[in-house]
Formats: sequence, structure tokens, C-alpha cells
Amino acid sequence: MQVLSVTPEIFPLIKTGGLADVTGALPIALAAKGVTMRTLIPGFPQVMDAFKKKKAVYQYPLLQGGKASVHAVKIAGLDLFVLDAPHLYDRPGGPYGNAAGADWPDNWRRFAALSQVGGDIAGGAISGYQPDLVHAHDWQSAMTLAYMRYGKAVGVPSLLTVHNLAFQGQFGAGIFGELGLPAVAMALDGVEYYGGVGFLKAGLQAAWAITTVSPTYAQEIRLPEFGMGLDGLINMRSSDLYGIVNGIDTDIWNPETDKHLVSAFSAQTLKARARNRAVVEDRFNLEQDDSPIVCVISRLTWQKGMDILAAVVDGVVATGARLAILGSGDAGLEGALLAAAARHRGRIGVVVGYDEGLSHVMQGGCDAIIIPSRFEPCGLTQLYGLRYGCVPVVARTGGLADTIIDANEAAVSAGVATGFQFAPNNGGAMLYAIRRLVDAHASPAVWEQIQRQGMKADVSWDKSADKYVELYRLLLSKRVA
Ligand code: ADP
Repeated sequence: MQVLSVTPEIFPLIKTGGLADVTGALPIALAAKGVTMRTLIPGFPQVMDAFKKKKAVYQYPLLQGGKASVHAVKIAGLDLFVLDAPHLYDRPGGPYGNAAGADWPDNWRRFAALSQVGGDIAGGAISGYQPDLVHAHDWQSAMTLAYMRYGKAVGVPSLLTVHNLAFQGQFGAGIFGELGLPAVAMALDGVEYYGGVGFLKAGLQAAWAITTVSPTYAQEIRLPEFGMGLDGLINMRSSDLYGIVNGIDTDIWNPETDKHLVSAFSAQTLKARARNRAVVEDRFNLEQDDSPIVCVISRLTWQKGMDILAAVVDGVVATGARLAILGSGDAGLEGALLAAAARHRGRIGVVVGYDEGLSHVMQGGCDAIIIPSRFEPCGLTQLYGLRYGCVPVVARTGGLADTIIDANEAAVSAGVATGFQFAPNNGGAMLYAIRRLVDAHASPAVWEQIQRQGMKADVSWDKSADKYVELYRLLLSKRVA
């Protein structure tokens, strides 16, 4: 089976979030299952610099305002089609904006171009390559499915994965004339969205099937509270909507070999975590005692529920737990958490910033990780927590609800609990969960059982890749001969 994946990001070449981890891991996991995935990505500087021999397999004299070409290359074990279009992608800064973080004003052009090329390849533009199916990701490549639908590839099955419905690629109606789509596409069941053009909306409409990155999020986005204005459309498409949870890279996140840890460990040597814990105490200026350290490794934003945590930190300290917080984001939240650390010296420590190495040490040394997200399409940090014996305490939403088994009486006595869940997502419910955690931590037999059970959970890509293959097969069976 030949699958064309179209994405703005792919690990290890270009990454701003979990989307890159998925698009980077999936081709490798699928290869073992007889699926060949080639990936079309924009020729951002980081990507163009990663290969030398440049031989175009397709040329555009004019693509959204300039010359462009497609190069077939293999980088880091990934089969890629790189769209070289310097007028669109050869810029400093990030993939979506300048160094100051402001979005590029022509993002619609940049990602319409990517999608148009995806549609062309699906329609057989590259000689010797015809994908059986096209898999697009998020708004930046969602228009591929519209170009297929209104172009030559209407008979090629397609899948759209939504990694976060909050990002929709919504633009004014004025751009429509430059997209190269037929007039009929500017319709309620086409690319039109609240009077303008909606890239994600167009993909949701055109895709043969839609997935989100967890089953619970797939259900939640059918509700107005989570649907971000698209719940009506998503309900209409509900018979083609699936949820497949993400896996993690179990080589990079392996507590037995992780070079970031001072002390590697396994489920049989949990006591070795103590040395990592000491590093966390030192780095976050925490008092040394036997109370649990609950950590946060997160963007400090409203989505992540950091304001809910900030409002009850005094209550958290009163439970006896300590807090180690690593994150950056909203300046107001950073300030509130730093003020809490100043109020509770030795009990709360805050490091503002992004620190990959420290995040590993925290997972390998803290007792628990709290993730109070308001919505969470999948979430990765709870999966790392499971693998590292850092017990997740999570809001019962999205992928957090799907991956953690709450340590209620029945689950503890059956030996299946892997963490703590709370709902509704408010300060009271959060504090109650932390109190339950502090109680469980006080009894080592119970605590270690929860840690070991979490470490046994299968968080690899293997099962999820099987689910994608199953869905691809289902879509292929719907082709009209
Ligand atoms: P999202 O993609 O919504 O931010 P995820 O849980 O899916 O949330 O992924 C977040 C990723 O970013 C995880 O790999 C997490 O460890 C990492 N991360 C977030 N904040 C930090 C930070 N301040 N320092 C180091 N790693 C971080």
C-alpha cells in the first residue's frame, strides 16, 4: 500500500508540536506493517539544508507567485517529497511566523501551495508514483483534500487527522480567486466558512474519513464546548470520524537508557529514581523530605489549565506535596506561578523556559505529573510519565481520559490503576485528586504498584499503527472500481 502523507512538520526536520512527532513516527511504524508512506513537506530552510543532491521530479513555472519544484529525497530514514518554493518557504523564523512569533501574512498562500501540490501528486503528477491513499494533517495541509475533490484525484481515498481543532486556518473570502479552485468550491459544503475560506473546514468536508488523536477527543469535538464552531459539521461527518491515540518514541523515552538522567532505572529498580529526584530538588530549590514532588512540564496557557492550578497552589502546598513547574507561555501565568514560588519557598519551584533535558530528569525523578488541561487532543507528557514511573494526575478529558486508569478503590485492588483523574476540571476537584495522591504515596506498596502498572502500559506506536492500517484498508475498500 502506498500512502502519501502531507504535513507542514515532520520530526526530526521541523517541529513545533506533537504533530511533527506523529508524522515522523508513523512512516517508520507503518513500514513494519507493509505500508509505504511518502511525505510531502514544505522546503523550509532546515529541510533544504538537510539534503545535497537536488534533482526535481516535478517543476512548476508558477506556483502561488513563483517558481517551484518537487524533490524526492530520503532523509533520516524518511521518504520525502520536498516542495522547494523559496518565495514561500525560504525565510528565517519558524514555519508559520517570523522570529518575533507573528504569523506570516501570506500563510494562506504558503499552505494552499503545499496542498495544491499534494492534490497534484494524488492526481498522478509524478511519473511512476501513484498513491493509493492520501493522509493530510491539520489546517496547513487540509486543503489537499479539497484540491483532490475538485481536481483529478476525486477517486483517491483520503484521511484528515486533526491534531488540534483550535487552529483552523481561516481567511477572508478575497483569497478564493487565487486558490485555483473552481467557483463551485466556494460553497457551504465546500471551502466556504463563515463568509470566508476555512482550510480545516474544507478538509473536514472533503476527507473520506477524519481522525483525531484520541477516541475521547473525537467524541468531545461533537459538542459545542469543544467544537470551536465546527461541531455542526463534525456531527454531520460523525459516521466517518475515528479516534486513534498517539504513541511515543520508546527509544528516546526509555528510563533504562536515557542519557539525560543522572540515574537510569527500570520497574525493578525504582529506588534508583531517588538520585534524579535530588537533582530536581536542587534545580527547583525544594526542601528535601519524603513528601511527593508533583511536576508540571507544559506550555503555560489557558488550554493547559494552568490558571486553575495557579489559583489553588496554596491548597496544594497545604496537602503536603511539593510542586516543580517547568514551562513558559502566558506572561500573566508565569508571574502568578513565580509569585507562588516566592510565597512558598522550598515547597514550590518554578523554572521558566523550555528545557528538553530537564524535562527528562523531572519525569525520571518526580513522583507525579499534573496535567489539568481544559481540552487535550492526545497529550504526550502523561505517556512519558507512565513510562518513567512519574504518576499522572490528569483532568478527565481527551487523550488524558483515554490513557490513564484512575486509582479508585476497585482499580487499586484489581492492580490496574496507573494514575489519578479528576472531573469537573476545577480547583476543588484538582485538590481532591492531589490529596488522594498524597495518601497513596504514603503507602509505598500501593504507590509502587501504581508506578509499575503505568510502566507496563503499551505507549508505543505499534497498536496505533495497526489502527491506521485498518482504517486505510477500510477506505481502500470504498473505492469505486
Ligand atoms: P502540546 O503539543 O499541546 O503542547 P503535548 O503534551 O502533546 O502538548 O506535547 C508537549 C511536548 O512538549 C512534550 O514533549 C513536553 O515534554 C514538551 N514540553 C512542553 N513544555 C516544555 C518545557 N517547558 N520544557 C521542555 N519540554 C516541554
